[in-house]
Amino acid sequence: MTFPFQGGVHPEGHKDATQQKPIELLPPPAQVVLPVSMHIGAPCEPLVKVGQHVLLGEKIAMSASPVSAPIHASVSGTVAAVEPRPHPNGGRVPAIVLENDGADTPHPDIRPFGSAEALTAEDLIAVIREAGLVGLGGAAFPTHTKIASGLGKIDTLIVNGAECEPYITSDHRVMLETPEEILGGLRALMKIYGLESAVIAVETNKPDAVETLRRTLPKRGGGVRVAPLATRYPQGAEKQLIRAVTGREVPPGALPAAVGAAVFNVDTVASIHRAVTAGTPLLRRVVTVSGSAVSNPKNLSVRLGTPLRAVFEATGGFREQPFKIIMGGPMMGVAQHNLDAPVIKGTNALLAFSREEGKPEKEPVCIRCGRCVSACPMRLLPVYLYHYEQKNMLAECERMRISDCIECGSCAYICPGRLHLVHSFRTAKQKLREAQKRGGN
Ligand code: SF4
Ligand code: SF4
Repeated sequence: MTFPFQGGVHPEGHKDATQQKPIELLPPPAQVVLPVSMHIGAPCEPLVKVGQHVLLGEKIAMSASPVSAPIHASVSGTVAAVEPRPHPNGGRVPAIVLENDGADTPHPDIRPFGSAEALTAEDLIAVIREAGLVGLGGAAFPTHTKIASGLGKIDTLIVNGAECEPYITSDHRVMLETPEEILGGLRALMKIYGLESAVIAVETNKPDAVETLRRTLPKRGGGVRVAPLATRYPQGAEKQLIRAVTGREVPPGALPAAVGAAVFNVDTVASIHRAVTAGTPLLRRVVTVSGSAVSNPKNLSVRLGTPLRAVFEATGGFREQPFKIIMGGPMMGVAQHNLDAPVIKGTNALLAFSREEGKPEKEPVCIRCGRCVSACPMRLLPVYLYHYEQKNMLAECERMRISDCIECGSCAYICPGRLHLVHSFRTAKQKLREAQKRGGN
């Protein structure tokens, strides 16, 4: 049984271009750029100096903060620089630049830890922390921190295979190509939480993934069920997925643990399996490269730190000059203006669009139709939030719970006036954060 969540929209999927294409390994570039901030939480401090030789998988940056994830060398080679470089989330951020020696010499720390069954819950969390794992669905929250916040509170473990954003098929391919790794990682999570059951939630627009996972269950899936969910955006958002699978509503401002649930992305779960059984830290990730301006859309397994330019070149380059480039999906992604920026842990897709699809609206007008209100899965009033932000009435934005906005873009998608709603909400939140830092608004 599944439960409908409030609001949501049905954007065109645009997944045909890549969903049937197996993941290809992209050879590592001559140079990787690894920003010290690739996750939500405290940035890392570099552990290496210019000129130092590092091995594949060597820890090169970390933070003492519990809300952080270490960074590992994604190639073996020499530290060419530690300096600010373009970051895909904007601006320039300190980064460790590695000159690839082409040898991929592994660090001796990369060795199997054994099976999840043989390790304690504490050992498993330590392995996950040391592997630098973060949420790979795009959120990039440190996985060990998320696990720790739910210990003793969780009765429902959900693996998120919804992948509801248009164009993105990286999780779909992971479910088709590595279902045993997903089940292996899931068993580790079940052991950590002391649970006998778990759910893998997949939207029904991926019937082959549902089928593949179900076929794999007899091997390692005792207590695990696959739940097909009717396709609807933003079902892959944590709170909406919990509602769809359990019927429980996470209260405004609360975490999933408040209703006894924890949600982990499918690729994150597969990465847990690799960290435990092979000792592999997070060195690469699957990236969907698609959009109308891309010559040959693909799913690529890319070393972290690979410049965005090299990823697009691996798909045959642009068929025409792109009007807009996005990291992530078209609903929630971040516009890219510098292709020297690197692939980071949260880069699940790179999309390039021609002018026709970019369709910017120079003079957006609100016609007060109320569609944004019906579409909002968080029960917010986007039209009012927008008008208050435009008038810089930040206290009103706060009163109307702008902090609950998950920036899903459903309101902007449905808006006939083509108002720049999400941009407005991000601006308001940024202003509120700055006001809080100054000590009031
Ligand atoms: S972007 Fe925010 S306001 Fe708009 S629909 Fe999503 S949650 Fe609601
Ligand atoms: S959907 Fe757009 S035009 Fe309609 S009320 Fe909301 S902001 Fe205004």
